[in-house]
Amino acid sequence: MNTSTSPCIGRFAPSPSGDLHFGSLIAALGSYLSARAQQGRWLVRIEDIDPPREVPGAATRILQQLEHYGLHWDGDVLWQSQRHEAYRDALSWLQTHRQSYFCSCPRSRIQLLGGSYDGHCRDLQLPRENAALRLRQHAPVYGFDDCLRGHLQAEERLAEEDFIIHRRDGLFAYNLAVVVDDHFQGVNEIVRGADLIEPTVRQIALYQQFGWPVPAYLHLPLAINQDGNKLSKQNHAPALPTGDARPLLVQALRFLGQPVGEGWQDESLESLLKQAVAQWNIRLIPLQNAMKPDEMTSPFLNGSQQAMISR
Ligand code: GLU
Ligand code: ZN
Repeated sequence: MNTSTSPCIGRFAPSPSGDLHFGSLIAALGSYLSARAQQGRWLVRIEDIDPPREVPGAATRILQQLEHYGLHWDGDVLWQSQRHEAYRDALSWLQTHRQSYFCSCPRSRIQLLGGSYDGHCRDLQLPRENAALRLRQHAPVYGFDDCLRGHLQAEERLAEEDFIIHRRDGLFAYNLAVVVDDHFQGVNEIVRGADLIEPTVRQIALYQQFGWPVPAYLHLPLAINQDGNKLSKQNHAPALPTGDARPLLVQALRFLGQPVGEGWQDESLESLLKQAVAQWNIRLIPLQNAMKPDEMTSPFLNGSQQAMISR
């Protein structure tokens, strides 16, 4: 995947809005296995840039859960709450190079436009007060090559929108922080859930406006519940169990299409992970979202999930 000569640096970047669940384990494990299979480094970054959405204690529990599942990271954890100065520097670089502008359009105006912004404030030279900062897109990115899915094309209006990089309420935008930090940490391979395919073209546009090398991307299938919704804290996905980590790890490996021997009960967590690294094969990863393997025998399966099972 990582075709350059520099060693692979991957990462897992959870937001501390709740405990890890089966869906987040997939993203953590997929990024871990990919980096380790390339003898690379695997970093963890806590994306605590949105205090109102934070759950007290969640960050500590996430780190404990990763350790418990044998997913040990390299170096120190990076906390986005400690990175405000870097975000401010990045924003002022963009401002100095006329690559951003203040926008005071109320949400209602953008809603009237159908949800995507039309660049109304681009040349108005508005003051900072009570305004959001938007990226002045010079060269929108319309698609990218995903290491698993091949070329993915974005909708034009999504690709071209001058998106927000600093919110009106003073919070730094996810797209800004994720790019500044991945670049700072030398991350050259981003393995994450398919729910983040959409913002990828925006993130690539930001890399290019900064003049930074763009990482490789791989978007994993999502774990969904019986209603077809992504497992999330919002729909009460259960936290990862605290007992024996192996059964759920085996399910996560199977979810990712990776082989697991029948005798896994006799293996330690460490040896299961070691084998998974040695056997990691991205060509086996399914593209479709699916339920947790032990829930797939349910009589409520829809057609696409049936198709997955018979593959
Ligand atoms: N913090 C983001 C989330 O938990 C993930 C960011 C990323 O992987 O790019 O959804
Ligand atoms: Zn505006």
